[in-house]
Amino acid sequence: MAAGEPQADCLFCKILAGDVPATIVHETKDVVAFRDINPQAPTHILVIPRAHYANAGELGADAPELAGALLAEAAVIATAEDIADSGYRIVFNTGAGAGQTVFHVHAHLLGGRGLSWPPG
Ligand code: IMP
Repeated sequence: MAAGEPQADCLFCKILAGDVPATIVHETKDVVAFRDINPQAPTHILVIPRAHYANAGELGADAPELAGALLAEAAVIATAEDIADSGYRIVFNTGAGAGQTVFHVHAHLLGGRGLSWPPG
């Protein structure tokens, strides 16, 4: 399996292929963003690379330019969603022990309410 190739059993690869519906809010040639199906904040968007990497560690190690593009798009979306001024959070749950349930790397972009620290 080549790094970045679509995975048949990956939910987010299926969304990218159009086989599973999603509310897409932003796309570039490398990155797609869609609304989380179970939002944890008034704005809760998942930002993913089109290429399949299992988690943030793998993405950063194998495709650092793509990791940067993903973060840049998250910032563009935060401005478009009007959460940039009030503050927002970008979260990469990495590994099942940290709550990762979909193993196609995704940034959670959360905003539109107060966000406490530390996270749960
Ligand atoms: P994780 O737990 O960090 O891996 O985040 C996975 C996220 O995907 C969760 O916040 C889920 O609510 C979200 N999710 C699962 N299935 C779908 C879907 O079909 N569309 C949009 N979001 C989804």
